[in-house]
Amino acid sequence: MRTSQYLLSTQKETPAEAEIVSHQLMLRAGMIRKLASGLYTWLPTGLKVLNKVAAIVREEMDRAGGVEVLMPVVQPADLWEESGRWDEYGPELLRVKDRHKRDFVLGPTHEEVITSLVRNEINSYKQLPVNLYQVQTKFRDEVRPRFGVMRGREFTMKDAYSFHLTDDCLGSTYQKMYDAYTRMFERMGLEFRAVIADSGAIGGSVSHEFHVLADSGEDAIAFSSGGNFAANVEMAAVPAPAPQQPSGTASSFVSNAGGVEAVCESEGIAHDRAVKLVVVSTEDDQGEKGHAVLVLRRDHTLNQVKAEKLDNVALPLQIASDDAAAEILGMPLNFVNPLDCPLPVIVDHSAAALADFVCGGGEVNSVQINANWPQAITSVDIRNAQAGDPSPDGDGELTIKRGIEVGHIFQLGDKYSKAMNCGVLNESGKHETLTMGCYGIGVSRIVAAAIEQNHDKFGVIWPDPIAPFKVALIPMNMHKSQRIKDAAEAIYAQLTELGIEVLFDDRKERPGVMFNDMELIGIPHSIVVGERNLDNQQVEYKNRRSGEKQLLDVEAVAAFVQ
Ligand code: ATP
Ligand code: MG
Ligand code: MG
Ligand code: MG
Repeated sequence: MRTSQYLLSTQKETPAEAEIVSHQLMLRAGMIRKLASGLYTWLPTGLKVLNKVAAIVREEMDRAGGVEVLMPVVQPADLWEESGRWDEYGPELLRVKDRHKRDFVLGPTHEEVITSLVRNEINSYKQLPVNLYQVQTKFRDEVRPRFGVMRGREFTMKDAYSFHLTDDCLGSTYQKMYDAYTRMFERMGLEFRAVIADSGAIGGSVSHEFHVLADSGEDAIAFSSGGNFAANVEMAAVPAPAPQQPSGTASSFVSNAGGVEAVCESEGIAHDRAVKLVVVSTEDDQGEKGHAVLVLRRDHTLNQVKAEKLDNVALPLQIASDDAAAEILGMPLNFVNPLDCPLPVIVDHSAAALADFVCGGGEVNSVQINANWPQAITSVDIRNAQAGDPSPDGDGELTIKRGIEVGHIFQLGDKYSKAMNCGVLNESGKHETLTMGCYGIGVSRIVAAAIEQNHDKFGVIWPDPIAPFKVALIPMNMHKSQRIKDAAEAIYAQLTELGIEVLFDDRKERPGVMFNDMELIGIPHSIVVGERNLDNQQVEYKNRRSGEKQLLDVEAVAAFVQ
């Protein structure tokens, strides 16, 4: 590619609206432009990186047995009513009507569409298991779109959905996806961690997130130095690798799945066995906004969480606004339909605080961890974990780092297949409901996350496998020297012939301008063609990451950068 024919669109000034370095550099390097809040145009350089990321994702999905499909962005509301998420999903779901006043949504995720496809296409156990994936635009009306494409409203996701007859089979595909994700991020040259995660609004039981480590990450992740424990710090119930009996007093590790029993002096509401307390924002028919306190109880037999509203509990927090509440809770409140949806907004920070809530502010005498209810302790709460804490698996100390969630895999079970009647005939000819997994990757978010990890004060430093170009070819004063022009053209032709992606800076610009632009864009290898070195049939090579320079014979350039 020649810069004279390209849309380089680099800019010198750091845009005021960009808070984090990847957003600043994506704007300055001419990768993206904002159209409206959370909506971005991908310029050629950005699109090249996006396509490289998507290509690695596709290759590893195919290698792991995935089969690519493409589903519509616009989805009929009926499917969402069938799954129950039309009411559950909340304001992130953008709803639209067509000219016949029929309801549709812009897909924030595709469980409903794929389940409806599979129930029509697959009817025998012989066609299973199957793992279908797509790379598609998603729309989520994020409450706070920010950091450019890191948290956009429209973004590119790779989402895969697997269907099985048994949970064992699901477990084996889940492991394949876990391994495929590991390979993808390794190939992209990113430093990442897989952690145990909450399954949120998607549902299901087992789930892992993949985080690219970066200080600007919105999540905190904790991992043990022994290496066997890693979880998102928002987790209230992480399966404990080595089940422990918590001590009888309030500690930072509160067992949730095991049950926390609050024993209080005060009269009033007898709410023992509260699993979790949550505060959610509510809105009544008149649009009056308020807050409600809910107790969540986990039903282990059904593996469901049930929510119960506590009418008489006054909030011990003075909540003036959602923002104030969010500040106190350390996370945003954005539920409008609290009673029917999973509620990850947690108030409780300790067993004592939990008991305090349960008793409506009454005096708390003691807090007992009731390990017998409803079953042995199987999980730990790491929401109050601090770096240096002993870890939950009894192996070393906890490290806590910031992470950017770039991937998330779930074992969904029959949440969607049951609601939407998706099954097949088994070997004995009996109808069986399928069990499902789903596997998401934030393809566009990865581009920003990679920059958070790979940059310096001059610009981006791309890992080779996702760089927009492999080589920058910089001729000095080519427009004044035929000899430089001929040499540069020859190198360009040779590299292009070999399939090496070269950005040939043939603009009528000063060398300094060209150097700065190529460094800003972050092209891993530069070849500088100048008069003095040409006297010896040589050019200068510079490595973007190490800064190392060396002279190469003109004939040796191709072999060196290949
Ligand atoms: P987050 O916690 O950041 O809101 P999520 O948990 O809601 O993400 P998932 O439903 O797990 O997201 O979707 C799969 C992947 O899609 C995420 O791991 C993330 O990489 C990406 N993703 C989600 N929301 C956005 C967004 N608004 N912009 C860009 N990528 C996103
Ligand atoms: Mg989200
Ligand atoms: Mg998340
Ligand atoms: Mg997620």
